[in-house]
Amino acid sequence: MTQRRTLVAGALFGWLVCGAQTIDVRKAVDLTYTFDKNTIYWPASPGFHWEKQQWAKTPGGYWYASANYGANEHGGTHLDSPIHFHEGGASTDRIPVDRLIAPAEVVDISAACAKNADYRLAVSDLTAWERRHGRIPDGSILLVRTGWGQFWPDKKKYLGTDKPGDVANLHFPGISKEAAEWIVKQRKVYGVGIDTASIDYGPSKDFIVHRVLYGAGLYGLENVARLERAPEKGATLIALPMKIGGGSGGPVRIVALLP
Ligand SMILES: [Zn+2]
Repeated sequence: MTQRRTLVAGALFGWLVCGAQTIDVRKAVDLTYTFDKNTIYWPASPGFHWEKQQWAKTPGGYWYASANYGANEHGGTHLDSPIHFHEGGASTDRIPVDRLIAPAEVVDISAACAKNADYRLAVSDLTAWERRHGRIPDGSILLVRTGWGQFWPDKKKYLGTDKPGDVANLHFPGISKEAAEWIVKQRKVYGVGIDTASIDYGPSKDFIVHRVLYGAGLYGLENVARLERAPEKGATLIALPMKIGGGSGGPVRIVALLP
């Protein structure tokens, strides 16, 4: 049984590498939720549409299955492109693939979030991470672990409300404005991800973290699954969204390669 695959990569870890990189697939963890009728979308969104078009044995005697699907770009495990909150920013198809394959840091704030559902990542959480692991490297992807994945797909617990259209009662952790500003001014990461429905916390009305990060050209990853499986340092993230032309985001398959 072949457990190892070879990937020819132009730029991994921000280095220009010519030749073959070996990937150990036994260390690959899927950080993606399944898209189906239970997938969580923003309260006003109709959710993931999937409908069998043809699903039967044909008169010719062979099996044929095909379905239609459709959804808002911003539900389930998905990517936010800079254009989502920044006019003129890059759309999904314009994010270079070498920015979507990069080392990942995981900043764990789950203890604070367990006490306060509206907790926001603080600058002190980032500097505490750096005291343990060293400076957040340039050209990496910063992930925030809140522990909210344990509530998926229970909308009431995960979003704070399960009523369609009820954006007034959203409660879940996110990132503070100060931490977002620190990230774009003090460090040079490609993107920021979180295991909740939004990088801005539930009660946010101005979506300031989206505006700060995407205004600086970063992308976002939301509803990242099973983030407890990824270590604080040492994993490589592969986060490849559906390449929607002009898209403000899109479904993304995220895999962490553990160290
Ligand atoms: Zn989004």
